[in-house]
Amino acid sequence: MTERPHYRMYVDGVWRDAPEAIEVHSPATGELVATVAYGDRTTADDAVAAAKAAHESGVWRSLTQDQRADFLDAIADHLAARSDELTALQVLENGATVRGAGAFLIGYAIANLKYFASLARSYEFQTSRPLIEAPTVAAGMIVREPVGVCAGIIPWNFPLLLAVWKLGPALAAGNTVVLKPDDQTPLTLLELARAADEVGLPPGVLNVVTGPGPEVGARLAEHPDVRKIAFTGSTEVGKFVMRAAADNVKKVTLELGGKGANIVLPDADFDLAVDGSLFAFLLMSGQACESGTRLLVHESIHDEFVARLVARAETLVMGDPMSPATDLGPLVSAKQKARVEKYIALGQEEGCKIAFQGTVPSDPALAEGHWVPPTILTGANNQMRIAREEIFGPVLVVIPFRDDDEAVAIANDSEYGLSAGVWSADNGRALAIARRLESGTVWINDWHMVNAMYPFGGVKQSGLGRELGPDALDEYTEPKFIHIDLTNDRRKRAYAVVVSAAADA
Ligand code: NAD
Ligand code: MN
Repeated sequence: MTERPHYRMYVDGVWRDAPEAIEVHSPATGELVATVAYGDRTTADDAVAAAKAAHESGVWRSLTQDQRADFLDAIADHLAARSDELTALQVLENGATVRGAGAFLIGYAIANLKYFASLARSYEFQTSRPLIEAPTVAAGMIVREPVGVCAGIIPWNFPLLLAVWKLGPALAAGNTVVLKPDDQTPLTLLELARAADEVGLPPGVLNVVTGPGPEVGARLAEHPDVRKIAFTGSTEVGKFVMRAAADNVKKVTLELGGKGANIVLPDADFDLAVDGSLFAFLLMSGQACESGTRLLVHESIHDEFVARLVARAETLVMGDPMSPATDLGPLVSAKQKARVEKYIALGQEEGCKIAFQGTVPSDPALAEGHWVPPTILTGANNQMRIAREEIFGPVLVVIPFRDDDEAVAIANDSEYGLSAGVWSADNGRALAIARRLESGTVWINDWHMVNAMYPFGGVKQSGLGRELGPDALDEYTEPKFIHIDLTNDRRKRAYAVVVSAAADA
């Protein structure tokens, strides 16, 4: 067998190995891609200590906004210079298709890091508000200061992108960072650390610790010196992180599951809505939190729309994710495949009909891959578990509705509220529905278009706080109010309430 690369962790500017290794396998072929140092609670503690020391030394937070921005730009440029290599690595580690990885997983990651560099330059770290208290002549100032050590726990579906959503605003705001990738997909984050190292980011400002979630992730969530934790992943682990964070009242942002309602009105452009609805539930073979997995179709067009959807789905190619002709890749793991297959079986038990099921690749080289065919279930209602629980695979449930009110009611009848969409030729009607949807994002005649300049996050059990946009920097800073008296006049001061000024009068 050929020699596989071995990756070490990045702690305090040093590449650090461990006695044991984690194996990273290709989800498409099962082949061993690389080995990675197996970090533990001690490594997490060392990384936090390094980040804390770097924070306190001022080596990062004392830089000017432009200096910090220059570092972010340099890291982004380093990644951009290697984007083809990173795309191939992302395909190998999590099974994204090469087209999806190039455009979204790597392309957006680099573009979004550039956005955070520009935000580092333009964000108003110091603001003032007009004086409103007439008797007092004073100036007020708000200084937004870095929080301190920030930790990011990253899932396996969009590793580099979701790391950038945490690293970018954290560093722009002057914090230091510890990132923990999922142990199935650590490679692109270690390449991010390599880029940071090569551009000379000071030691301790970024640390990447690999290892199991219940060890490394849990330690970061409870660590008293971590002042903020940002988590993307399952709702179950998100709740655990929030409970652990409560012990020392650290700031928390959570980006969790979803069950996106995708509403097709009778006046929708069918060509657009058919392709868009497939895109909505099949990007990353459905392993995307903001997927549109509940298709709500007006009853008057239901049968025709489903027929068109099925006809188009039949043209999709599932196969080798490195091939540019491939539309759909594998699921990330045997565990995820078993989970999704269980839901497909459950949907049938609950009374759904399989309106479409694709085929998995027959190529013997892909025999060990975690393949689940794209599947469209009809005859569903919103009370069924397959309509309520996040499946995280290429599975769509179709639910008919009678009118706009019912579409909104079904869409909002969910524990989740991350994403939703409306397809219509009438922007006014679509916008009226969009405003009624309980969702952090609503797309009209589109899907998955997350925009770095706009906040991204969920309501209800989909999460807490927002990533992207200036909103993200708000989450990575603490506003400090500074009051400056401008009068030196003891008699006009509020403290005369206790320390009487009458004697001087
Ligand atoms: P997970 O929540 O277990 O993993 C996400 C991250 O949390 C990983 O880095 C993992 O190592 C870490 N983690 C795990 N246990 C932890 C703990 N006790 N303390 C701290 N960190 C911990 O997700 P999973 O088990 O890989 O996937 C299960 C389901 O979660 C999926 O089927 C999907 O529904 C959902 N999910 C959602 C997203 C998303 O983008 N919102 C991403 C991945 C998974
Ligand atoms: Mn898990």
